[in-house]
Amino acid sequence: MTQALVIGAGPAGLMAADMLSQAGHAVTVAEAMPSPARKLLMAGKSGLNLTKAEPLSDFLAAYGGARDALGQSLDEFGPKAVTEWAEGLGQPLFTGSTGRVFPKAMKASPLLRAWLARLADQGVTLLTRWRWTGFEGATCRFDTPEGIVCVEPAVTVLACGGASWSRLGSDGAWAAYLPEQVAPFKPANMGFRVAWSDHMHRHLGTPIKGLALLAGATRSRGEIVISSHGIEGGGIYAVSAALRGGAPLNLDLLPDLDEETIRQRLSRPRGKTSLSNHLRKTLRLDPAKIALLMECARPLPDDLAPLLKALPISHDGPRPLDEAISTAGGLRFDALDKNLMLRTRPGTFAAGEMLDWEAPTGGYLLTACLATGRRAGLAAARYLSLTSSGKP
Ligand SMILES: Cc1cc2nc3c(=O)[nH]c(=O)nc-3n(C[C@H](O)[C@H](O)[C@H](O)COP(=O)(O)OP(=O)(O)OC[C@H]3O[C@@H](n4cnc5c(N)ncnc54)[C@H](O)[C@@H]3O)c2cc1C
Repeated sequence: MTQALVIGAGPAGLMAADMLSQAGHAVTVAEAMPSPARKLLMAGKSGLNLTKAEPLSDFLAAYGGARDALGQSLDEFGPKAVTEWAEGLGQPLFTGSTGRVFPKAMKASPLLRAWLARLADQGVTLLTRWRWTGFEGATCRFDTPEGIVCVEPAVTVLACGGASWSRLGSDGAWAAYLPEQVAPFKPANMGFRVAWSDHMHRHLGTPIKGLALLAGATRSRGEIVISSHGIEGGGIYAVSAALRGGAPLNLDLLPDLDEETIRQRLSRPRGKTSLSNHLRKTLRLDPAKIALLMECARPLPDDLAPLLKALPISHDGPRPLDEAISTAGGLRFDALDKNLMLRTRPGTFAAGEMLDWEAPTGGYLLTACLATGRRAGLAAARYLSLTSSGKP
């Protein structure tokens, strides 16, 4: 059937297929869903943040404990390379004030269309509705529209994604086929459940901007959205790993003012003004922040300054795994060699979110998926060349 098989047509798998086909190998990509890269397309709905323009040392630090394991892939294909790659696919980019890099089109579809066309030109075959259901000896077994098919490629790259947004194909079911090598999945970059009182209902869907979020030693500037289920948005995602580890959540509602300045401003004569109006006039606190203060700190103490700098938010834990932007856990790095090849299965490589790493949103996720896809694809191409020349 094929020399090289890639399982999963997300960004990691497509990058592996790109590398293998550029090296001159016949490549088939098997994808469980009716069309490729559904999660990538979803990522583009709110603005496709491809990478982050910042020094590589800062960039690598975002991967925490997986920094060393991912270091080589990201050294070879970091933010600059991702930018050049997307531009090479005809996508003009822009860099926002925080260094986040987006296509000018914001969405993923033009980039994906250009990429799939290039892969087709390079002879890559894409088989959709082909669901990998495990290994059977040397073969990979698939459920296909034609029934069960077993394939024995010379090399395989697994790129089946994490375990969130199963309706887009990333269901983590593959973990059952590698049971000894997988760390349990955990939600990453997820919202948290909060049982709001009726008072908060008029603020549902409202972005609350200009906050700092504090979770243990982690402090992050950002914004959150109050939803009917709790709190969502980039600000909460940035501290979600610390919260998942049990750190309490506090919000600094006025990160640009110190406690003493807040106290002085609040001590201005209030007259008959309501407390809400006084907060609005003296501190420019917007209605949603005032509502949060009233919701989370009743009964209010006389000195509000400490609360405005660190408002405790009690939550009932993370939203379900399937709703998370990404997942922690997955195929452990100790099950792979430095070329991302499975130690127990020579010739089988793995890449992307299915590996055991996590990072905040901000372009770090896609960059690592592309970088590991590239590394696994290049290593698979080298392995294939060596084995076909009789030098394994
Ligand atoms: C709402 C949302 C917004 C996001 N925004 C951003 C962003 O702006 N920037 C960013 O960096 N990241 C973002 N992400 C995360 C990013 O989309 C993912 O990290 C990335 O798509 C993972 O790439 P991947 O190729 O490893 O896996 P996936 O994209 O999940 O692709 C895996 C593919 O494998 C297929 N598959 C799974 N199991 C099998 C099987 N058994 N057989 C055959 N095929 C199988 C799946 O159907 C899927 O097509 C966002 C995610 C979401 C949900």
